[in-house]
Amino acid sequence: MDEYYRTGEPGVYAAGDVIGGYLLAHAAGHEGIVAVEPMAGADPAPLDQDRIPRVTFCRPEVASFGLDRAQAEQRGYRVDESKVPFRAIGKALIDGQPDGFCKVVAEAGTGLVLGMHAIGPHVTELIAEGCYAKLVEGTAGEVGMSVHAHPTLAEIVGEASLAVGGQAIHY
Ligand SMILES: Cc1cc2nc3c(=O)[nH]c(=O)nc-3n(C[C@H](O)[C@H](O)[C@H](O)COP(=O)(O)OP(=O)(O)OC[C@H]3O[C@@H](n4cnc5c(N)ncnc54)[C@H](O)[C@@H]3O)c2cc1C
Repeated sequence: MDEYYRTGEPGVYAAGDVIGGYLLAHAAGHEGIVAVEPMAGADPAPLDQDRIPRVTFCRPEVASFGLDRAQAEQRGYRVDESKVPFRAIGKALIDGQPDGFCKVVAEAGTGLVLGMHAIGPHVTELIAEGCYAKLVEGTAGEVGMSVHAHPTLAEIVGEASLAVGGQAIHY
């Protein structure tokens, strides 16, 4: 099967759980989009499995995408990593949910975002910002310089991104 999910059989495509990878609804959906769009003459970007968010709706919530430090190093990256706790974030204190953290894994030197890993309040929502940064090949510095409203839980993504370069403000 190729990156547009064409099988060896002309006119037969395969996407979703049946092809493996992450067995998740949003992965299956995007694979379907990448398979179907070329049929209508469009040229979609192939789906990189490292862009697929993995979220668990437990308490506290858990969310991640991309590579952790060990995986990144296995692929030959030199890595900078940050870890910022929710207790450094005003909205988490206001909400009475100070437990948890956000980690950002970036390529040393370029700052390219390679992954994000978080436990805590609403991280299943917050992970989307990291996934977008990965899509546009953004750097941790760029995510950190994006303005995050105060007080919001999203500030932890900005702080953890700044912390990759040792520039966190609240931690
Ligand atoms: C209990 C449970 C909870 C989940 N929760 C989440 C979640 O919170 N978030 C998330 O992202 N993912 C979740 N998933 C995974 C998600 O449901 C799957 O990844 C997603 O449905 C895969 O989509 P799909 O189209 O590949 O397969 P499916 O949704 O399984 O669709 C396959 C379809 O093909 C049909 N079919 C099978 N064989 C044939 C045949 N021979 N002829 C014709 N039709 C056939 C089936 O009836 C089915 O309708 C969950 C899965 C389970 C089981």
